[in-house]
Amino acid sequence: MDITTLFKLSYGLYVVSSKKGDKNNGQIVNTVMQVTAEPVKILICINKDNLTYQYIKESRVFSISILEQNTPMQFIGHFGFKSGRDIDKFKDIDHKIGQTGTPIVTSNTLGYLECEVVGELDAGTHVAFVGKLTDAQTLQAGEPLTYAYYHEVKNGKASKNAPTYIKNDKKPIKEGKKMKLYKCIICGYIYNPETGDPDNGIDPGTAFEELPDDWVCPVCGADKDSFEEA
Ligand code: FE
Repeated sequence: MDITTLFKLSYGLYVVSSKKGDKNNGQIVNTVMQVTAEPVKILICINKDNLTYQYIKESRVFSISILEQNTPMQFIGHFGFKSGRDIDKFKDIDHKIGQTGTPIVTSNTLGYLECEVVGELDAGTHVAFVGKLTDAQTLQAGEPLTYAYYHEVKNGKASKNAPTYIKNDKKPIKEGKKMKLYKCIICGYIYNPETGDPDNGIDPGTAFEELPDDWVCPVCGADKDSFEEA
């Protein structure tokens, strides 16, 4: 079996949010799809270990923010590589409260969907929730961020709780490149000197050694000491 065949599947990238009492949480999800039209139902897949899973189980509502292509890696890392058990992810993040009371992230968002859970399928590590659409709004024009773009252009990685996570998911080092790739030992982000880190003012062609001392991992915020040769 060639497990890398799975890389050919296509996905988007979204923030799925929910609530528990007056607490809000959200996380990055790539598995979002419309399953029916009359009425509109949406399927999402969430890891049982995640706080957002607990919140959806309790509140039975969730929102989906459709991210735009230019979403900064730091924003994705904030929702994808940090836990709501450690921080309030909604502090300092633009959001609103939807009709169902669920929080909705509005920054870097092309539009959002709001759903009430009408069914769920236990898939082992993950649960697939089916939600009936209760509201949908477009916030701005733009290109949606795809999972392929996140991987290939932004050098993004899957978190260990993503349905699409594969161990040792690392990019091959291109032959003939003198500048080395460096990997964040916290989140697995690969710094590629060829592409640099334009979101944070690092030009393409900047070697890891040339990065400023205060540069941090654009995904999880770890410092340079948390990187090793990939
Ligand atoms: Fe990192």
